[in-house]
Order: sequence, then structure tokens, then C-alpha cells
Amino acid sequence: MSAPLGPGDKVLLVDRKDRRYLVTLSDAGEFHTHTGVVPHADIVGAGEGGLVRSNSGAAYVVLRPTLSDFIFRMPRGAQVIYPKDLGAILLMADIYPGAHVLEAGVGSGALSAALLRAGASVTGYEVRDDFAARARTNVASFLGDEVLERYRVEGRDVYEGIDATDLDRVVLDLPEPWRVVKHAEEALSPGGILLSYVPSVTQVAQLRDTLDASRFALAETIEVLVRSWHVAGQAVRPDHRMVAHTGFLTAARLLRS
Ligand code: SAH
Repeated sequence: MSAPLGPGDKVLLVDRKDRRYLVTLSDAGEFHTHTGVVPHADIVGAGEGGLVRSNSGAAYVVLRPTLSDFIFRMPRGAQVIYPKDLGAILLMADIYPGAHVLEAGVGSGALSAALLRAGASVTGYEVRDDFAARARTNVASFLGDEVLERYRVEGRDVYEGIDATDLDRVVLDLPEPWRVVKHAEEALSPGGILLSYVPSVTQVAQLRDTLDASRFALAETIEVLVRSWHVAGQAVRPDHRMVAHTGFLTAARLLRS
């Protein structure tokens, strides 16, 4: 059973047209839209899965946001990795509770949030201080301040080296991942996994060439295509539009020699 809602919790209000609003509850707070006002106390009273009405009668379903809901609505500086790719990254990089993960660059923190939610301890390298700060705020706002005990973001350029050893995973979302392969060889434990997300196939080719000449083996590259469907009565068909391209995922495992 889900815990009762309270001040500080995030909720998603969904209207009859399926529009979604992310709201952070507070003691005397009010949710305002063109359809009127909903006091936060009513949202708490309705509880998760319940229904609230604005003073003009518009109905909203109350739900806690999923990680995907949050990622699409959180403040973003850098382009985030889409949930369809985040799901695949968690399995392809085999992220598990307690795994020591080095992530670079951190950007807006969408990937960080997914790694942390899967239980990993994450050290992030990010060259832009404003992005590092944004990522920390985003992550703590969804996962709570306690998560900062296993999330550290450093203002560093990962191309210059990784200042850690015995890492379990290195996860990269930056333009020249091949420049990190040498550093990852030193920083990862044998059997560890390097995963890279890049938008362009020329980047994949250069990374794969570098991996071939390294101690990494079992390299694999995939892309994830998700086609959503329109389901309404007899009209059951793929949606007309889809996100045709985001990025390619490449993973490889470190051998001893
Ligand atoms: N995966 C992130 C988005 C990362 S965008 C998310 O899901 O939110 C790429 C980030 O890499 C940018 O913030 C950029 O500043 C950072 N970056 C680029 N080169 C870097 C380097 N050499 N070392 C550390 N960070 C780097």
C-alpha cells in the first residue's frame, strides 16, 4: 500500500484530456489552472488514485509521478536521455543495488536518477558547474535528499582521467566516449561494464574501433525503437508519429588482459 500523501510529496494531476501537471504539495498550497483552484489539502484528502475537483468542477486524477513523468517535466539544461533508452541502459549496463558507477557527463541528471533509483552509488563527472548543480537538484527533488549520500557530482573533465578504482560500471553520455576507454580500463574492475550513449553512428564506429584495440570484449551496439499504439474501440493501430531516433547504446566488458 502506498504511504499517505503529505507536504513535500510530488503528485501528478491528470485532467480529462490526459494533460498532466506536476505539483509539489505544501501545507497551505493551491494548484491553479484556467479551470480554477484545487487546495493541496484536497489532494492529500483524495489520496493516490483518487479524484479532486477544482472550484469550477474540473476533475483531476491524483497520482505520484513515475520516473518517466518526472524526467519529461523536470527543469532541463542539457538534452536528457529518454526513458525508452534509460530502461535499456539499466539492463545493458547491468545496474544493481550497491554497484559503484562512474557517470559522465551528468547533464540534467535524468540518467543519474535512473541509476540511483536502481540502487547504484554514482559518482558523476560534469564539466559545466551549472549542469552539475541542476542535476543534483533534480535528482534530490525526485528521490529525496537521502539519495545525496550515494550521489556525488564533481566538476571534472572525464577525458583527463578517472580518479577512482574498482568501479563496477562506467556509463557515458558525451561526444567522444573513445577518449574515456583508456581511463575506464584503469578504473574498472575486471568484468566491469562500460556503456556509452551517442547519437551518431560515426561516433559508434570510432568507439568500437577503440574498444577493439583495448582490453574490452563482448562489445554490443543497439538502438531502441518504441512504437506506441492508438487503442480506441475498433481503431487499434500504431500511432502516426514516433520518436524515430535518439541514440545508440554500446556496451563492452573489461577483461584482465
Ligand atoms: N545523460 C544526461 C545528459 C548528458 S548531456 C541526462 O540524461 O540528463 C552531456 C553532458 O556531458 C553535458 O552536460 C556536457 O557538459 C557534459 N560533458 C561533455 N564532455 C564532458 C567531459 N569531457 N567530461 C565531463 N562532462 C562532459
